[in-house]
Amino acid sequence: MAKFIFVTGGVTSSLGKGIIAASLAKLLQARGLRVTIQKFDPYINVDPGTLNPYEHGECFVTEDGAETDLDLGHYERFLSIYTSQANNVTTGRIYQTVINKERAGDFLGKTVQVVPHITDEIKRRMLLLGDDNKYDVILTEIGGTVGDIESLPFIEAVRQLQWELPEEDVMVVHLTLIPYLKAAKELKTKPTQHSVKMLSETGVHPDIIVCRTEEPLNNDIKRKIALFCNVKPEAVIEAMDASTIYEVPLLMLREKLDLICLKKLNLSGYGEPQLDKWIGFLDKLKYPRSKVTIGLIGKYIELQDAYKSILESFVHAGAINEVKVQVVNVHSEFITQENVAEKLDGLDGLLVAPGFGHRGIEGKIVAVQYAREKGLPFFGICLGMQMAVIEFARNILGLKDAHSTEMDTSTSHAVINMMEEQKKIRLMGGTMRLGAYPCEIKENSLAHRIYNSTNISERHRHRYEFNNDYMEQFESNGMVMSGKNPESGLVEIIEIPSHPFFIGVQYHPELKSTVERPAPLFVSFIDAAKKYNEKRSSFKTSSLQDALI
Ligand code: GLN
Repeated sequence: MAKFIFVTGGVTSSLGKGIIAASLAKLLQARGLRVTIQKFDPYINVDPGTLNPYEHGECFVTEDGAETDLDLGHYERFLSIYTSQANNVTTGRIYQTVINKERAGDFLGKTVQVVPHITDEIKRRMLLLGDDNKYDVILTEIGGTVGDIESLPFIEAVRQLQWELPEEDVMVVHLTLIPYLKAAKELKTKPTQHSVKMLSETGVHPDIIVCRTEEPLNNDIKRKIALFCNVKPEAVIEAMDASTIYEVPLLMLREKLDLICLKKLNLSGYGEPQLDKWIGFLDKLKYPRSKVTIGLIGKYIELQDAYKSILESFVHAGAINEVKVQVVNVHSEFITQENVAEKLDGLDGLLVAPGFGHRGIEGKIVAVQYAREKGLPFFGICLGMQMAVIEFARNILGLKDAHSTEMDTSTSHAVINMMEEQKKIRLMGGTMRLGAYPCEIKENSLAHRIYNSTNISERHRHRYEFNNDYMEQFESNGMVMSGKNPESGLVEIIEIPSHPFFIGVQYHPELKSTVERPAPLFVSFIDAAKKYNEKRSSFKTSSLQDALI
């Protein structure tokens, strides 16, 4: 029987419940337990797939093609495990299931109500991953903040499970904020007391209180929180702001968060956590030898969460290359032929980001052209790859109005076209080409060297593809289609062998990058940027010397 840890949040949103949950899970995993994490989100969308990134940040796609919350990305990056559709449940999905059952007549004439029907469905899904004895511990992060109307049924389900399951099989970790009032030079516990009170009023009592704080909590404060919130003083955990999210597991280890959980869950016989790899990564991350600057060209750059997995992949790839990756956001809407050299000045590599719709497209194409012509390392992901294809078609093949039919349905050269199976689809939610698909790589290509394999599998999220009618024309002019789906022939990777590093992929390699398994494409891209930077610096020094002579 699996054990269940629920993580709730109080006082305010954005306290980093996902990171605390992932850090605790990491420590338990490092002690040898089989763990997974799931997230229950209170909103009514069936999944975040149709949400604008401005609303909800990046949409994280799992192996099985679920469009999920970006916290699942953190879970995978910390734990190096795959999550699935079952790991992210929304209120919308719960209601959809219950209403479908009602339509099928499954409730036999009964009135369908929040309690018990909605809460029963929530509980069923909360326990689901425990079914086939794959995990020792299942962590469940409850989205939202305690006190929100929307999350009440989830909290009620947790209350019922706390009551139904054996005491040593379930526990609740509550994450709150201890604000520091600068004027009074004091940490304040009142908001935490109120949020725990509110949680208790719903019948859920936390076993552990994790306190986000800018200042260390002394013993007096810990005792005060413990006393008023009715937990043991050792169950009040300090979670200081960290310089990187990857440090949080070590901070939680120091606070013995995992040990308190093991004790409460009556789990014994697990040794010290094996974190050598993690600590090695952290050392490299904190003490880089040099720096590279990467331009991230996108249209949602004001919102860091929109490109979460890409930014984290750079962190992983930077650490392994022992460089600090400084990412410079460049808004594609404002790039023109006239200002491109100035906008991209000082970069060691260019990443053109995924995206949808026509806003900022021409700027992306101009940026790709600059990278191709100047020998600047280029990496295009999904829409970024499609832009590289369009740029090549226009400027090398001379097909002046070449475009993607996503942006221009009347183009005479649709080098990027809607996939055949997508043409019949009318519904928006969950209907793209989603999840993991295999890709066959051409021998001796750049992609082959990067992956060191000819058969890979990566995750997707798109409706458009390279138009294979143009394959011959592209290949005879210097762009190689080096990766294809073995069944459909759909182009997955493009590259330009005469360029130092120019590669575009239809899939999303950022979705599989983890601390312990950085994505090969990011690692090689950063390596190419490092070389470019060294060349740039030596060129600068020698021209300076020339000038001095
Ligand atoms: N909009 C493009 C498509 O649907 C690219 C999608 C993406 O970048 N994820 O094919």
